[in-house]
Amino acid sequence: MNLLLIDDDKDFSSFFSEAVSSIGVDCQVITDPTAVLDYNLAKTDHIVIDLSMPNLDGLQILRFLKDKDFAGYISVTSGQAMPLLESAKEICQLHSLNFHTILKKPFDISYLDKLLNTPQSSSFNRTEAKRNNKLSSRLATKFSNALKLREVDVYFQPKINLETSEITGLEALARWQIDGGFVPPEHFIALAESFNLIGQLTNQIVEKSLKHFTHFLAINKELGLSINFSSVELRQQNLPDFLLEKVTEYGLSPHMITLEITETVLLEKNSISLEILARLRLMGFQLSIDDFGSGYSSVNMLQNGPFTELKIDKVFIQSMHSTEKSKIIVQSIVDLATKLELDIVAEGIETNEDLQEVRRVNCHYGQGYFFSKPMNATQIKTIITNWNTNYSNNKVLNKARP
Ligand code: C2E
Ligand code: CA
Ligand code: CA
Repeated sequence: MNLLLIDDDKDFSSFFSEAVSSIGVDCQVITDPTAVLDYNLAKTDHIVIDLSMPNLDGLQILRFLKDKDFAGYISVTSGQAMPLLESAKEICQLHSLNFHTILKKPFDISYLDKLLNTPQSSSFNRTEAKRNNKLSSRLATKFSNALKLREVDVYFQPKINLETSEITGLEALARWQIDGGFVPPEHFIALAESFNLIGQLTNQIVEKSLKHFTHFLAINKELGLSINFSSVELRQQNLPDFLLEKVTEYGLSPHMITLEITETVLLEKNSISLEILARLRLMGFQLSIDDFGSGYSSVNMLQNGPFTELKIDKVFIQSMHSTEKSKIIVQSIVDLATKLELDIVAEGIETNEDLQEVRRVNCHYGQGYFFSKPMNATQIKTIITNWNTNYSNNKVLNKARP
């Protein structure tokens, strides 16, 4: 592996390069940060960047590496507080750079393990990126076949009213298996988006989830159904008419259906999507901002988008009991959304502790493994049936789900 350290601290640089060289890793050092602008990065697999440097700071270097399409790994180091290092990580991700590790100074020799002993660290380079592209296109062909054979399935996760403990709705989540193993939805959805298969996927998810939903309604007629849509799907002009037609075909009403939308930042810049959202709302569909608080949702959208619900990202929910900052953030989101008369859903409730925290800040609804993992239609029917008889009257609040 070829490592490059960019750090103006000469003592640290020589300590670091000696340490990594002693375990057989080739390490180059740049102590004048501007020198990186002329440096030939073709053979570099991994760059460690100090954030605070004169003339050109670490964040400017990240931007430079983004413009260069640097395909290797990037780690950041600094004596600054952790939140700043976390921000640098986030910036790497926004720049589509391959973030590797945070190395907080003072440097501990055990960090070298983190830096060097990961399975990917020696293998990522441009050839690897190309190979990944080939893999993706092979996987896309498989996915396209699975769509043709209607093999992509839908699972459902209950949404719970936290006051009454009743199931108020179900979120449909796409599932695709290869050789008995599940492919993560984020993976095949990104694939569907880049290989122009997203329209087909949406059609099948909508068809299948509406069909199952009619059976769930037969058990509990108060239920709602939530379906996920990415912003790419919301650029399809015919989406509102398609959905209305399907909902009518199954004898349902649009107000029973919630569209969960992530990446509202992208919507904001695209008037067509906003128009589509407004049309959906006019037809009576409910609209939810998904993953609120994570990188791609926007407060501005609360003002301009016709939303009816806000889902707080699970990252905040799961850190509420341990991080004061998360508690403050969730409390503020709940206050804001309540004033804007939006329904609030806390996602990712995994433990009784998580549940107590979200109840304390008056979240209306919750979802998470604590209540139930996403299940197939047959299993979820059993859950809905039993929930009504066994788990109402607040009993669930003190019990983990089986
Ligand atoms: P999401 O919409 O935020 O869905 C919630 C994700 O959190 C689901 O992951 C769910 O299984 C998981 N989850 C639920 N409760 C818990 C919990 O207590 N702890 C943890 N750690 N996770 C929990 P899943 O099913 O892997 O889906 C991932 C993402 O893929 C979804 O995130 C959604 O953005 C996307 N997705 C799934 N199905 C579809 C679809 O049909 N269409 C589109 N466009 N996106 C979909
Ligand atoms: Ca969702
Ligand atoms: Ca979410």
